[in-house]
Amino acid sequence: MATITFPVPATTTSRFAVATDGVPHDLPGILREAAAGPFHAHIAGRLGSPQLQLTRESSATLRWDPGEIRAAVPEDRPAAQTFNDASDFAVITAFAPITDQPRGAQAARAAAYAIARATGGIVADLVTGHVLAPPAAERTRFVLADRWLGDALPPFRANGRCTAADPELDPEGVNGCACVRLRTRGLRRFGLPELQITDVACPHDLAALNVLRTAARRLLTDHWSWLATGPAGRDRTIPAELDLSQRDFNDFLGTTRRVPLAPPAPFQITLTPLTSRLLTVTPPATFDGTINDWLWGDTLPLGMYDILKSPADPPQAA
Ligand SMILES: [Zn+2]
Repeated sequence: MATITFPVPATTTSRFAVATDGVPHDLPGILREAAAGPFHAHIAGRLGSPQLQLTRESSATLRWDPGEIRAAVPEDRPAAQTFNDASDFAVITAFAPITDQPRGAQAARAAAYAIARATGGIVADLVTGHVLAPPAAERTRFVLADRWLGDALPPFRANGRCTAADPELDPEGVNGCACVRLRTRGLRRFGLPELQITDVACPHDLAALNVLRTAARRLLTDHWSWLATGPAGRDRTIPAELDLSQRDFNDFLGTTRRVPLAPPAPFQITLTPLTSRLLTVTPPATFDGTINDWLWGDTLPLGMYDILKSPADPPQAA
């Protein structure tokens, strides 16, 4: 059976920035005085250590570009614009052992949200490159769909430039274009390679995104099981053919409802390393057809064709 081996770092870095006018000097003080939440003790215990560093930065000295931060969804565009134009930032950096995840990243994001609430600022995740608006309450349970992955749909029909037929109306549309390329930006902070899927026709963009999300969740589940065994080496080897199911998709969304279906039918993907930090997702080797035939066929669980966000467990508002 074909396998893939990739290096697993001992530590990873998560960074968040809060754009706000007049960043307060006493950022730790803001966190100590913030309302007690599930991460209060985690934050207090890490403050000042490499696992939770707070810095004040301004546009004159930045080593990252606020102009690169984007909105993952259209309703975040005003917040992204404000962030792009800002000049003062509180930056939260968490440099933590891989075995401290996801708690380390969650504590850092909880700290970023707390600073944003106290200052009226706007949070961005510098790993995914997306604004996180408005500041949410970081929930205790880790749910990958809570904007950890940088997963977003591309502009609809390549900003209107793509006129490939709709496969609902014309079978030619199934393979009518190859505009869509999706890549995760966020698995690296858990010590995993990122995933990408390419050559997808516009009508299948959501199905492709959900395949990527499902594969990401499955890799993460297996990764944490592997880490729990206290591996001696720094390399991890996984099968190149991965069986996924509706259960993995539900885990991505954090859905706790019982799914009233027959036992979930698995579907298979193939992973191929492009670099040691990036894997491509394609249909199983046994599939005879294009990636679009596969996405449009009856292989995938039905929910993967229409669910953009989790309907069951939306993140709590602040
Ligand atoms: Zn297209």
